[in-house]
Amino acid sequence: MTHVVSVSGGKDSTALYLRAMERGLPFRAVFADTGNEHEWTYDFVRELPRLTGGPQIEWVKADFSEKLARKREYVARVWPEEGVPLSQVERAVNLLHPTGNPFLDLCLWKTRFPSSKTRFCTDELKLVPMFQTVQRPILEAGNTLISWQGVRHEESLARRDLARLQRINPVPFSLPAALRRTGEAWTAYAYRPLVEWLEVEVFAFHRKHSVPWNPLYDHGMGRVGCMPCIMCKKDEMRSIAERFPEHIDKIEEWETIVSDVSKRGNSTFFNVTDDPFIANGWAGDDYDWSLSRTGIRARVEWSKTSRGGLQYDGLCLMQADFNTSCNQWGACE
Ligand code: SF4
Repeated sequence: MTHVVSVSGGKDSTALYLRAMERGLPFRAVFADTGNEHEWTYDFVRELPRLTGGPQIEWVKADFSEKLARKREYVARVWPEEGVPLSQVERAVNLLHPTGNPFLDLCLWKTRFPSSKTRFCTDELKLVPMFQTVQRPILEAGNTLISWQGVRHEESLARRDLARLQRINPVPFSLPAALRRTGEAWTAYAYRPLVEWLEVEVFAFHRKHSVPWNPLYDHGMGRVGCMPCIMCKKDEMRSIAERFPEHIDKIEEWETIVSDVSKRGNSTFFNVTDDPFIANGWAGDDYDWSLSRTGIRARVEWSKTSRGGLQYDGLCLMQADFNTSCNQWGACE
């Protein structure tokens, strides 16, 4: 039986790591680097074993090199047949090369950013590399996998009914169906020892072990993960822009690159169809689809206003969370 603890650098996964240490069982700890984390999170994860005396944390990272090679070939062959101007095809083919940043490479391969309704990022950036690198070899060797997950009922409606121990198919949804079928026969369990804990207990657990939490919580961040996350709330968007403007610059740069490989010539970090103006059908033929109107910089400006929005708050966030990999695995805080 092999225990694998998912570490994200957030408070819940840190408490999970500490809980696994308290139990005194041997365990492996794994962190999936999305390429879109805050530098303090990387530092925190690197430091955690030294701060706690716990096991080293294995870093895994998605690699999209082969997928990008296939995409280059597809774009060069199919787009001209579809009437896409050759200059656009050439620009896309030149850009469809691995950058080494998993988040950006994923978006290049998909020629778009993930969205609240098409949240492929958790699977591709976290679950698949964790499964392929760590969990799959354990299962293929005939061992039982106990996957420790730091989710709590209190977090959202979608997580309210999660069981403490649950038999699971460990193969992420984005992998081939044949492998998913093989996964049915493997013995794997999700173990969620914090499921009944309250947020206050999670922080108290850090204090009990004299372990600091990720400093992002003391700088206005309600959650730790991608900086920003595509599910970011409006007030969090504003805080990130104020405190960590370099992360907005990064996304703005990515929007330009991903737009250049998109057939439409426009791809935004926050999906434009989530914009209430467009969702309600108010955008006419003369709507300005440029990045300056629809890109992250415009969303930052909007986040400073008192106008509402559908995507980033409350119930919509919880509904989007329902039945996703994020919900089952708690890979994203
Ligand atoms: S934190 Fe957000 S953007 Fe990052 S992988 Fe999870 S859902 Fe996607």
